[in-house]
Amino acid sequence: MSEGPLTAFDAVVVGAGPAGSAAALQLARAGWSVALVERQHFPRRKVCGECVAASNLPLLHALGIGAAFDAAAGPALQRVRLLAGDEAIAAALPAAAHNRHRWGRALGRETLDVILLEQARAEGVAVLQPCILQTIQGTPGRWHCDVRPLGSAALLRLRSALVIDAHGSWDALPFERPRRRLGHNASDLFAFKANFTGSSLLAGDIAVLTLDGGYGGMVVADAGMVTVACCIRRDRLARLRSEAPGARAGDVVEAFLRRACAGVRQALDGAAREGPWLTSGPLATGMRIDATDDIFRIGNAAGEAHPILGEGLSMALQSAALLCSHLLGRTCTVPDAAAQAGMQRRYAAAWRKAFAPRLRLAAVFAHLAMRPGGTALLMALLHHWPGLLTQGARWGGKVRLAAPLASPAAPRASGRASAGAASRTP
Ligand SMILES: Cc1cc2nc3c(=O)[nH]c(=O)nc-3n(C[C@H](O)[C@H](O)[C@H](O)COP(=O)(O)OP(=O)(O)OC[C@H]3O[C@@H](n4cnc5c(N)ncnc54)[C@H](O)[C@@H]3O)c2cc1C
Repeated sequence: MSEGPLTAFDAVVVGAGPAGSAAALQLARAGWSVALVERQHFPRRKVCGECVAASNLPLLHALGIGAAFDAAAGPALQRVRLLAGDEAIAAALPAAAHNRHRWGRALGRETLDVILLEQARAEGVAVLQPCILQTIQGTPGRWHCDVRPLGSAALLRLRSALVIDAHGSWDALPFERPRRRLGHNASDLFAFKANFTGSSLLAGDIAVLTLDGGYGGMVVADAGMVTVACCIRRDRLARLRSEAPGARAGDVVEAFLRRACAGVRQALDGAAREGPWLTSGPLATGMRIDATDDIFRIGNAAGEAHPILGEGLSMALQSAALLCSHLLGRTCTVPDAAAQAGMQRRYAAAWRKAFAPRLRLAAVFAHLAMRPGGTALLMALLHHWPGLLTQGARWGGKVRLAAPLASPAAPRASGRASAGAASRTP
């Protein structure tokens, strides 16, 4: 394997999902030289319910993609509808206090991730794509990252003062201890997503599905396309597959959703699926961020909530803003090793304060929704107090911005640390 010359950056960001692109963009805007490493070609579809909560819309505008988001995203999401078997309970979603951005909207990840990444590139981020981070060595202030362009034997060698891990949660990075438990667990959750045209799902509704052995959601996203996403336990999936030998997992899951939930049957009656079901898993929910980390973690790499609340994109975008506000401070100077340790502690504490309650609420809701007894209790409570759904969405963070955008008004005055601010695609 051949090695290229070292290229120096202030920061290397791994992963160009919403967390990575948002962080790279904010640091580049403040005058840092930033490399953003993404292993996949874009546009790419991704397993996700694709609802962007209202709390993020001012952030997207501040990042410079507000107009593109407004032009592309689906209708304003103003109601939540909880579906259990043949029953449905609807409630209003809370409106954000912002006078222009009161409601969330849904947008396919093949569009959202591209507009964010292109904005990062336009603001001077060096985009290395498709490239995979192979190794990372060193200590804060002196990192060396080896990055391999896909399909090439050559290595790009990057030096940087700090590394930001935004690679999501589906795979461990090469230098990490395997995070996932060895062996299989009956309660492991596998995630599925498909898009449909011609659905009768009400525009403006987020439908939340409770399933025996899983949970899910449906929403009208961009161009009238409906996104259906769900998580199914390993043991449930195995039973479903044994009942339909030879069938694809996605088809088995779709048949299950239609059978188990009248709301899905109605919404998908006469609808056509666009492309295959996508699947990923198992899910790795929980907190990974640690005050003693050497590298900074954002998005799902920092922690992941059960997606039943649809708050993962908020946590990705807002943790990026939170981290950048700590890194840039008032001066926008690139921090040395000692300063990074202090920032790491303060950022980890702020992250926990902002997002740990969301993780806990999502876990409680998910476990109730996956069990028939829990669902019965939930539906009984909500029949009496449907407003609890509205309040739950508020507690879940739908209208609260956890972090202000790092001040773009104070870019570092001089001294870009690197040769590498140009955009490059190997
Ligand atoms: C079923 C389901 C439904 C969901 N629904 C919603 C919803 O409606 N609303 C919501 O807000 N959230 C939802 N989420 C959560 C949301 O999808 C995630 O929280 C969000 O994608 C996290 O963003 P991220 O930027 O942290 O990571 P990701 O979006 O996962 O991006 C990580 C990027 O890193 C890249 N990468 C990985 N490893 C490497 C490597 N070694 N080198 C280079 N690049 C690498 C990947 O290719 C990827 O592009 C849902 C999740 C699931 C599973």
